[in-house]
Amino acid sequence: MTRLAQTAGLNDVQQEILSTVRDFVDKEIIPVATRLEHRDEYPTEIVEGLKELGLFGLMIPEEYGGLGESLLTYALCVEEIARGWMSVSGIINTHFIVAYMLKQHGTQEQKDTFLPRMALGEVRGAFSMSEPALGSDVAAITSKGVKDGDEYVLNGQKMWLTNGGTSSLVAVLCRSDEGHPEGTAPHKSMTTFLVEKEPGFGEVRPGLTIPGKIDKMGYKGVDTTELIMDGLRIPANRVLGGTTGRGFYQMMDGVEVGRVNVAARGCGVAQRAFELGVAYAQQRHTFGKPIAQHQAIQFKLAEMATKVEAAHAMMVNAARKKDSGERNDLEAGMAKYLASEYCKEVVEDAFRIHGGYGFSKEYEIERLYREAPMLLIGEGTAEIQKMIIGRRLLEEYRFQG
Ligand SMILES: Cc1cc2nc3c(=O)[nH]c(=O)nc-3n(C[C@H](O)[C@H](O)[C@H](O)COP(=O)(O)OP(=O)(O)OC[C@H]3O[C@@H](n4cnc5c(N)ncnc54)[C@H](O)[C@@H]3O)c2cc1C
Repeated sequence: MTRLAQTAGLNDVQQEILSTVRDFVDKEIIPVATRLEHRDEYPTEIVEGLKELGLFGLMIPEEYGGLGESLLTYALCVEEIARGWMSVSGIINTHFIVAYMLKQHGTQEQKDTFLPRMALGEVRGAFSMSEPALGSDVAAITSKGVKDGDEYVLNGQKMWLTNGGTSSLVAVLCRSDEGHPEGTAPHKSMTTFLVEKEPGFGEVRPGLTIPGKIDKMGYKGVDTTELIMDGLRIPANRVLGGTTGRGFYQMMDGVEVGRVNVAARGCGVAQRAFELGVAYAQQRHTFGKPIAQHQAIQFKLAEMATKVEAAHAMMVNAARKKDSGERNDLEAGMAKYLASEYCKEVVEDAFRIHGGYGFSKEYEIERLYREAPMLLIGEGTAEIQKMIIGRRLLEEYRFQG
């Protein structure tokens, strides 16, 4: 099943990494994914396997013990993993974003402290912007960090924290007034705090509570939580980059690479849906022949495969643009938007091909059908992607007349 979603121009190392990951997905993830997902069970053994493969340090520079690979290699691995089970890609995605933010914006001491242990998967990252009253409108954040001697005191409630329970390092975006008088633009008075904590639920550190897992329609197995800060004290050297007021930009930089990864997840889930649909269509007979021989079903398969190809090409283009050092917000926004919409459509078509059986929990497509909608929301909804794309287009095509 490798005709679709091929990537030209990969070097030997990239090809070897991808083939190892694909093998791991086929042998260790696909056979257990649906069972674990139905039980909402954390995939501990799979995570241990990912650690052994070095995937938690894939993009962390070699000097910190990582593999120092490109965003493209990372995105292609995410695509493979999501093909097996989207929740597993969620476990490494927030870790990857925090490691990337540290690499790009951290002080030398912060890099030395966290990156080597993150590369081994010993320290696991989560990032937290959203609050109960906001997600898209990041500038409206109300959680606050107030300076008190050599520390900051953090108060506020955060929402939708992927890996909130299992992580030990959370990058938390708060408003910080210190040095930013009243009236400062909201995005210039935000700070990312690096919050270390014990994994688990309840009061995981004085002033910090992770209440429990949010019960979700899909994307199960991976924990998504709230985070409550009530007088949480953070040393001043845990301000990301050492300077307050940079948090909004640091988070947006992280989310931008995160968007390529959500696109890659959409590609992976769509590929799996296609594989399931094309296999079922050749086994199920109606009116004396396999349903794959009815033109209406062949047209569906043709549309699905075309969408898989198009989404993959755009995702690869966005990753390569970032790897070349160029600004890629336009391409990342387009890839995320297209891949998540196409994913939902391909999954729906595969579901329809399964007829009534698609509605049964015995069939994998039932799980994919509940997973695909998350991609329409995470790392910015479709509407937010279109706002980013539209603004950038008006910059690029400024009317000169
Ligand atoms: C399973 C899951 C995991 C998540 N993990 C994380 C995480 O790890 N960290 C984190 O910080 N967040 C996380 N999120 C939060 C996610 O980023 C937000 O849900 C998302 O950004 C949307 O925000 P919202 O839910 O508040 O919707 P809202 O912002 O309230 O939007 C509601 C609707 O209005 C639309 N809308 C909003 N503004 C505009 C506008 N200006 N023009 C047109 N339409 C608009 C939106 O597109 C959407 O359709 C997660 C969410 C989920 C569901």
